[in-house]
Amino acid sequence: MKDYITVIGGGLAGCEATYQIAKRGIKVKLYEMKPQKFSEAHENKNFAEIVCSNSFKSNLHTNACGLLKEELRLLDSLLIKTADEVSVPAGQALAVDREKFAEKVTQKIESLGNVEIIRQEVGENSNENNLISLKELVRDGIVIIATGPLTSENLSKEIIEITGNEGLHFYDAAAPIIEKNSINMNIAFWGDRYSQERGLEENLEDWKKRIKDNKENNYINLPMDKEEYEKFWQELVNAEIVELHQFEKREIFEGCMPIEVMAKRGIDTLRYGPLKPVGFTDIRTGKRPYALVQLRQDNTEGNLWNMVGFQTNLKFGEQKRVFSLIPGLENAEFVKYGVMHRNTYINSPDLLDETYNLKSNNNIFFAGQITGVEGYVESISSGLISALNAVEIFKQENKKLNDKNDKDKTNFKKIIFPEKTMIGALAKYISTTNKNFQPMNANFGILPELGEKIKDKKLKYQKLADRALECLKNQIFKYKRL
Ligand SMILES: Cc1cc2nc3c(=O)[nH]c(=O)nc-3n(C[C@H](O)[C@H](O)[C@H](O)COP(=O)(O)OP(=O)(O)OC[C@H]3O[C@@H](n4cnc5c(N)ncnc54)[C@H](O)[C@@H]3O)c2cc1C
Repeated sequence: MKDYITVIGGGLAGCEATYQIAKRGIKVKLYEMKPQKFSEAHENKNFAEIVCSNSFKSNLHTNACGLLKEELRLLDSLLIKTADEVSVPAGQALAVDREKFAEKVTQKIESLGNVEIIRQEVGENSNENNLISLKELVRDGIVIIATGPLTSENLSKEIIEITGNEGLHFYDAAAPIIEKNSINMNIAFWGDRYSQERGLEENLEDWKKRIKDNKENNYINLPMDKEEYEKFWQELVNAEIVELHQFEKREIFEGCMPIEVMAKRGIDTLRYGPLKPVGFTDIRTGKRPYALVQLRQDNTEGNLWNMVGFQTNLKFGEQKRVFSLIPGLENAEFVKYGVMHRNTYINSPDLLDETYNLKSNNNIFFAGQITGVEGYVESISSGLISALNAVEIFKQENKKLNDKNDKDKTNFKKIIFPEKTMIGALAKYISTTNKNFQPMNANFGILPELGEKIKDKKLKYQKLADRALECLKNQIFKYKRL
């Protein structure tokens, strides 16, 4: 058994993990491939490089990412503390001086007495590259893989060996996700294609009642008439799109085309594709709609729904503006916008538990964007949970080795954060069965509902945040004691 824990990747998650392990008195070997090798987006030799926006989003507790940051402050996150120290004016948001941030995190990691830094790529070893392989590091040791959305190809090959071919994704093509409570169910209706019976032969009002609450069907449907569809199409084809980096561009696959690209092929293309209305009756008229958008359930609780076929490169503000034109979505709350970009991530619901530990091997953890959490703060949060649990397993493995009476060498106690906290809810989301798993950022939709119905969104978020922070404060002794 190795007398240290290995962390691969000196990014946001890897640095947080390193700090959390080292401060608990356990040695860490941290592997980082820079400056020997840079990904397409990295260019700074320091750790914790912020590759794009310098914003860590809002500090307000009524913002999901603001709540997550506050939880991380309570848990003594090195990276959030450093971000606070090098913040620049940005109103209610926490924005950082990126150079100072990376420099300061690097200094802090370098000054930890029990951290050995190895500036080398980890990955499949061949005669030409002479790399240290993941297999080697995992042998008799605990490893946290935190190599991010642009994990090097040599390591990806080894990760595929662990996760299987279907287990590793290289590209994100995600549709927006909407809070169910914000959908106008006076327009939307439940129904699978062809499952609705025609309404014309009976009284329309009776038929509406019957269809509206028929939750046995899987989809929520949003019908459009000709005028509504044409207005939506017009705005969609003229909406602003995100400028992708060269390395993020790729060939467009017919089966996974941005909705705006498909729309630009012709005014009716969507009506023969993802907005096909056949097999449905418009709840408002009793007739077949001109076009129809479908929403599919996204989490087991059924409070998050994704827009089928709406993967997109539209700017976030444009998604809100254009997709809110769809009848039924006029007040839609988007918990996540659609994205299409290069992003290495594993199929966490099949592979990981709530501690970011590989279900099939207690010695392997994943952390950061590679687990399917999305964003700077979310990546830091997973680094922290994986580290606390790596420490737990490290201590228990050592104890078990010395305890002749302990026959079960594989059964470990783990630290699972309460799902009422944002940090815990995110860990639960990525590890819960989900056929259509897509990376997820912090949002209030993943927290369990409050016991009461609150219409005012701000008040509801405030209550959810208060509950989360109280819950964490009540249990904080557990995490500090470790
Ligand atoms: C182009 C781009 C733009 C983004 N913009 C934003 C944004 O604006 N806001 C936001 O919140 N998120 C953004 N993200 C997501 C962002 O990358 C993550 O939020 C965050 O950086 C993830 O942290 P991480 O620790 O998982 O990975 P990273 O911070 O990327 O760290 C991974 C580290 O692992 C190293 N590494 C990789 N492979 C190996 C290997 N084989 N051996 C050793 N070291 C290795 C890398 O050099 C890197 O230092 C963006 C991502 C990309 C690619």
